[in-house]
Amino acid sequence: MSNAKTYAGSCHCKQVRFEVTTEIDGASACNCSICSRVGWLMKSVPPGDFKLLSGDTAQTNYQFGGKSMHHLFCTTCGIHAFGKYAHGGEEKIVVNLRCLEDLDVDALKVQTFDGKSY
Ligand SMILES: [Zn+2]
Repeated sequence: MSNAKTYAGSCHCKQVRFEVTTEIDGASACNCSICSRVGWLMKSVPPGDFKLLSGDTAQTNYQFGGKSMHHLFCTTCGIHAFGKYAHGGEEKIVVNLRCLEDLDVDALKVQTFDGKSY
């Protein structure tokens, strides 16, 4: 049985709004040079589990290094609500769990994701 739930998420100024339907049983903290600065808690989901409701043009796309990851952030409030990456032809959405409503992120078990080595 799946424990997937639909969560509403947004950036701070609410121009970027989305829904994600997934089971959240933990979070990842990435140790790469940008994520360690942003300090977000993430979870990757297939694109079909993610629905952008608004804000497609409110974000800018920052890339560096291998450029496999699209670090999107709202140009008004600066929040990284989600990102995208394509690895081996498979696209994933990386959601910032701190941007979701009705989720106790402090209760989640956090694992380090070794993005620094990618
Ligand atoms: Zn914003």
